[in-house]
Amino acid sequence: MTRRVRKTVIAMILGMALCVAGGVPMRAQAAEGGGLLIATRQENVTQITDMAGLRAMEQDPTGSYQLAADIDASGETWFPFSFHGTLDGNGYSILNLSIQDAGEAIRETYDGNMKVYDTYFAALFDELSGGSVNSLNLVNLRIDVTTDQPCFVGGIAGYMENATIENCSVQGILQLHAHDRMFGVGGIIGYGCGEIRDCSADVTLVCVDTDASTKDEQFMGGVCAAGYPDMHGCKIKIAGFDSDHGYVHDGGLVGMYMFYPKGTKYKGSITDNYVSGKITFFEDNKNRRAYCNGFIGEIMNWDFENGRNKNDFTRDEVFKYDVDLMPHACENPVMREDVTDAGCEFGYTTYVCETCGYTETDHYTLKEHDYAWTVEKEATLEEEGLRSGVCVGCGAMTQEVIPKLTPEPTEEPAPAEENLEAKQANETGTDEQGAGDPETIEYEEGAFITNPVIVLLISVGFVAGACLILWIIRKGSKKEEERE
Ligand SMILES: [Zn+2]
Ligand SMILES: [Zn+2]
Repeated sequence: MTRRVRKTVIAMILGMALCVAGGVPMRAQAAEGGGLLIATRQENVTQITDMAGLRAMEQDPTGSYQLAADIDASGETWFPFSFHGTLDGNGYSILNLSIQDAGEAIRETYDGNMKVYDTYFAALFDELSGGSVNSLNLVNLRIDVTTDQPCFVGGIAGYMENATIENCSVQGILQLHAHDRMFGVGGIIGYGCGEIRDCSADVTLVCVDTDASTKDEQFMGGVCAAGYPDMHGCKIKIAGFDSDHGYVHDGGLVGMYMFYPKGTKYKGSITDNYVSGKITFFEDNKNRRAYCNGFIGEIMNWDFENGRNKNDFTRDEVFKYDVDLMPHACENPVMREDVTDAGCEFGYTTYVCETCGYTETDHYTLKEHDYAWTVEKEATLEEEGLRSGVCVGCGAMTQEVIPKLTPEPTEEPAPAEENLEAKQANETGTDEQGAGDPETIEYEEGAFITNPVIVLLISVGFVAGACLILWIIRKGSKKEEERE
């Protein structure tokens, strides 16, 4: 490392320390696909660019939030909390969100006989009420909850009420293993009401009744397991696996459609939805009902607008009750991995069973665009700059803040530095010496010999000395002349 580089590094460290000490905010704007990104609050909308930002919503659950980057949640576990604010996903995605437990919220749910259950929920939010979520994508959502409580699993909300979910998508595998009377799995929400508009789901839903001794109420739906949400323009692709020793209610959109609590009057609306896929289920029950349909499993209330819904749905009932139904039921699985690298799309790994052909994707990775950058505004000592990037592959655009320039420390004049480097090289045989006290001392010596006042004094001394010597010599020769 040369002296100049060392000085620059020291200056940068000092500059950063000053920034921190002086409270200068270090900000960076969102870049699609990652980078150093710190959440900032603008006009009462908090921008979220990382997992810490997502988690911080719990501290202010009525706030307004906007995603400003895709977020990879892999390697972390998400604990659901209740949300009542607005979350604008801004078209960004949360990858690999992993949930193993229901949140703390307990809400009442109702079975087809209006029996009430205190119920837990697992989803991005255990409860979404009085708020909205829009333009958010959950990519490779992985929920696998085992519980002894009444429980519903959903993609975005476990329980929803007086809220809207719009333009969102959920893709992943959602599993629930439960046995306490009332439980179910939905692609976008678990249980509830409100409005779900222009959303899509591409989900594998697994619901397993882990106890054959009680006749539970069990629900599954591509949008919602049970409740009465208004649903418009949703595209659902479902692979359902429902193993039940009680009563199943399975639907491409909703497992059981019912207004609640008792006496609720409502005019529902279910229009322009499309369902494709299959639900495989068993209902181990002598008093068999086996509700499973392309749109709604069981309809308890008919007072809803119903128009332009289409489906390509398969009802697949099996009558073998001793083996739980799973997406990959293979006695001799031999898995092959194919990695698809990220580029203008997310990367992921495809797992293919060579025995049965079962395929699933997992371990998604953030996009890696190839940006061509244009500096919009140069950074100065006083102000941050800004640069814009356009991906040469897909045209995706981004902007990044260029940090303020860091002031360089005052440089010593070059000749002294060269002298010092030469001296140091002579002494050590190399200039690859580590930074430390010796260098600091040499630096001080260099400063000494280049001090102009001292140089002037030395020069005056030289001239005066020369004059004195000349005067002595001339005086000496004069005396010799006189003697002669
Ligand atoms: Zn791109
Ligand atoms: Zn297999």
